[in-house]
Amino acid sequence: VRKPRVVVLGGGYGGLITVSRLQKLVGVNEADITLVNKNDYHYETTWLHEASAGTLHHDKARYQIKDVIDNSRVNFVKNTVVAINKDEKKIVLENSELHYDYLVVALGSQPETFGIKGLKEYAFGITNINSSRQLREHIEYQFATYNTEEVKRDERLTIVVGGAGFTGIEFLGELANRVPQLCKEYDIDNKKVRIVCVEAAPTALPGFDPELVDYAVNHLQRKGVDFMIGTAIKECTEKGIIVAKDDQMEEIKADTVVWAAGVRGNNVVEEAGFENMRGRVKVDEFLRAPGHDDVYIIGDCSLVINEEINRPYPPTAQIAMQQGETCAKNLSVSIREQGEMSGFKPEIKGAVASLGEHDAVGVVFGKKLVGSKASFMKKMIDNRALYMVGGAPLVIKKGKFNIL
Ligand code: FAD
Ligand code: NAD
Repeated sequence: VRKPRVVVLGGGYGGLITVSRLQKLVGVNEADITLVNKNDYHYETTWLHEASAGTLHHDKARYQIKDVIDNSRVNFVKNTVVAINKDEKKIVLENSELHYDYLVVALGSQPETFGIKGLKEYAFGITNINSSRQLREHIEYQFATYNTEEVKRDERLTIVVGGAGFTGIEFLGELANRVPQLCKEYDIDNKKVRIVCVEAAPTALPGFDPELVDYAVNHLQRKGVDFMIGTAIKECTEKGIIVAKDDQMEEIKADTVVWAAGVRGNNVVEEAGFENMRGRVKVDEFLRAPGHDDVYIIGDCSLVINEEINRPYPPTAQIAMQQGETCAKNLSVSIREQGEMSGFKPEIKGAVASLGEHDAVGVVFGKKLVGSKASFMKKMIDNRALYMVGGAPLVIKKGKFNIL
């Protein structure tokens, strides 16, 4: 008899944890495991704000997938998933196809622009290595160009960040540290630089502990960030953005606009015809797509309801990794057709937002942390993610040890 074919799409947090656990749980004779990822490397999505600002080289935020999987057990395919044909149990890649008996969809998220005009054309995103590298280079180019022009254009030095969610705040923290370095390098007066954060909600970090929000906002304001709270981005143009506050429209001229105001599930999921909300599929307790017992969906492409508040859990790496563990266990049960499936229940340990290299705010195991303690904790969380996939060798290679 043919061995069941397990195909895992996406080598991010969810996909890599699934594969690394599954390769240990099932024997060579029990299943064929294939992992498909767009690149031959995995990147730490949770570190992209640093790579985007230029405070951490992007090579520090990625590693080769072949280095962390058992290549004798897992067939790694570097390719882009174009479509999922769930009726024929087939994956369409850019130039080939794959057939599966069990599928794991872990393709992560993409920016949600809510149909706002001009964002796709003119705004930068913090989405993957390519977008981060491009944003870092774009910002540096503006600084490098400023003094070469006879008529100085101050909008070259204006950076708008849309959204004061965790991504926006963490990026601002890095940017606030990076800007003085750029000013020094390109002989620019710090006062010429304007960093503006536009947030539609009545507060930054909506839903987060108000005391910690105040700490973060004060910290960033001290470092020169202007906050426009309760103000929504309505349009992005070649020249900058149009914002609205209480029906008052305003244009902000800026050569750099960063859209960090929301994510949605990968559009491959939507196009495959799974019932979804903004590309996220409400999975059953075993992490399977409703009506498709052979398809597991995890990470940012999945939606899990927090029963206590009857709202979806926010998409995080924390949840994606925990789902990877459960998914691998349940796959092994499916493959063997014996044993008990495990229901997935997220264990939320907390949330920490970095504010540059040496500061942060967070709640960990119910305890509030700020400053260097929170920053230390954030680095431990970052190192743990490496450890979970590649053990101590990966932590030594890519870990964060700049503790003080
Ligand atoms: P990802 O880890 O993003 O992986 C998706 C993978 O799929 C990638 O390797 C990608 O290349 C691949 N892929 C995508 N499309 C295709 C395709 N068509 N074909 C082939 N491969 C494809 N969460 C936390 O819990 N803690 C944090 O501190 C934190 N910080 C964050 C900071 C930033 C700047 C951002 C943007 C997010 C942060 N998050 C954090 C959220 C977290 O990164 C995501 O929830 C997490 O990455 C989701 O994991 P995933 O496995 O679903 O997707
Ligand atoms: P988000 O959806 O959490 O935040 C987006 C913010 O943009 C919101 O505050 C929203 O009010 C605002 N916004 C939306 N439309 C706007 C508009 N037109 N104009 C101005 N503001 C607008 O998105 P995110 O920050 O990218 O986070 C995505 C996910 O990743 C979340 O689940 C988050 O928890 C997670 N994440 C976690 C961390 C961490 O734990 N350190 C870091 C980054 C991201």
